Amino acid sequence: MKYPPLKNYISGKFVAASSTKTMEVISPIDGNLLSAVPMSSAKDLDDAVKAAKAAFPAWSKTPIKERVQVFFRYKTLLEKNLKELAELCSEENGKTYSESVAEIEKSIELTEFACSLPQLVTGEVLEVSRGVECRTEHVALGVVASIVPFNFPSMVPNWTLPNAIALGNCMIMKPSEKVPLSCGRLAELLKEAGLPDGVFNIVHGNDEIVNAICDHPGIEAVSFVGSTKVAKIVYQRATSNYKRCLALGGAKNHLMVLPDAIPGMTAQNVAASMSGCAGQRCMAASAMIGVGNVDAIIDKICEEARKIIPGENLGAVINKASQERIEKFIGEAERDGAKILVDGRNTKVKGKENGTYVGPTVIDFVTPQMSVATEEIFGPVISIMRTNTVDEALAIENANPYGNAASVFTQNGAMARYIIDKASAGMIGVNVGVPVPREPFSFGGWNESKFGVGDITGKSSIEFWTKLKKSTVKWNAEAGVNWMS
Ligand code: NAD
Repeated sequence: MKYPPLKNYISGKFVAASSTKTMEVISPIDGNLLSAVPMSSAKDLDDAVKAAKAAFPAWSKTPIKERVQVFFRYKTLLEKNLKELAELCSEENGKTYSESVAEIEKSIELTEFACSLPQLVTGEVLEVSRGVECRTEHVALGVVASIVPFNFPSMVPNWTLPNAIALGNCMIMKPSEKVPLSCGRLAELLKEAGLPDGVFNIVHGNDEIVNAICDHPGIEAVSFVGSTKVAKIVYQRATSNYKRCLALGGAKNHLMVLPDAIPGMTAQNVAASMSGCAGQRCMAASAMIGVGNVDAIIDKICEEARKIIPGENLGAVINKASQERIEKFIGEAERDGAKILVDGRNTKVKGKENGTYVGPTVIDFVTPQMSVATEEIFGPVISIMRTNTVDEALAIENANPYGNAASVFTQNGAMARYIIDKASAGMIGVNVGVPVPREPFSFGGWNESKFGVGDITGKSSIEFWTKLKKSTVKWNAEAGVNWMS
């Protein structure tokens, strides 16, 4: 085992979980055993909630300008430790080193946004009647929880922790049991940056801890990022316990390619979007709809896909089960009559035979009923469907239950605007394969890609992590002057 078995992080210290149950942490790159992660119990969660509750009064009363100083220092520490953090991220997740560098850079951008929060959370004040003022202020919620998936071990925790904590909350993070290492390093850097003990805590585990988070009366709000199946469970359970909840789910993102699209640029974008992070991005292109004759562009997409080499510029998928699941989808498409133009099955990387790789895969002549057209595959696979008109393409996009992202490739501005209006997704790209909004714009999909109100990052997250206090104040002691005068 490369690293010692993991511990929870409670009140500024790494502490052993009360349960002896653990799961192995395996590197997808080569199958090597990295560590063991504890399957904590409800008691461990309770300890973390107590620690967070104890830290809350002092932290929430610390002026926000002072609170964000921690995040200025944390940002510098992320920059200083970028290489080591990126290496750890690759090791546990399987993505390439350059993808991990981009992930840490995105964590830095998210932290930069948190540093700007004092400029964004000023309340409002107005003299509403003579001598009577109304004012609003954003008030921290208390103890909040963040449950995160495996595909971004650093970035997704940093979607929530800097904003929630800078806004005065104390947090319990539940990392993915598949990639639990990066979070511990973030905790160490937060401590080095001066975050008081108990403000950020980590409880490792699986569904048992997630359920305990949804049920714990000491937790005010739960954010979740993961699959739609689990997002629904968490949203239902947390809200039925009267908690605020924002649960981001899975995705099936459609790229619409029109005949006037620039072939080289389009092909590069499609190939990069479907294969980046081995297709394990909730913003990855999973389905492409060619409108009219786009054969030349499809040829170029295949050329681009063949340049993507597993183990070099393509990382591993998270585990053997995921590899087998992706290959099963490709097999089903073939059996149902689709044409596999580039086949990533049975990929082995020399010297990393125990790694879990799937090569880039391009599937043409997919019909909307096939499983590769309807399911989230979460691998480096693009399923190409063809239509005669833009409205037929939009009908396919609209019919999918998810709604994270959609993109169009065209040089026709009016057509692009039409697609922006008609696509049923929260994040739309025009000639952009991965339309992730950058700060200060917020991240969040529609339909079954998100349950709850608002978005998880950017300005929209302020509403989620705070509650508004409204005060009506009269200092004018004159009789007859009331709040309506
Ligand atoms: P997952 O839903 O399996 O796991 C997410 C978290 O939930 C983990 O911490 C896990 O321990 C916990 N969990 C798993 N099963 C559970 C259960 N039955 N009950 C309670 N908790 C449970 O997701 P994953 O495989 O880690 O991540 C991939 C998924 O996340 C994909 O569907 C992807 O699209 C989605 N994702 C979405 C976004 C977004 O912004 N919408 C971002 C990243 C990932």
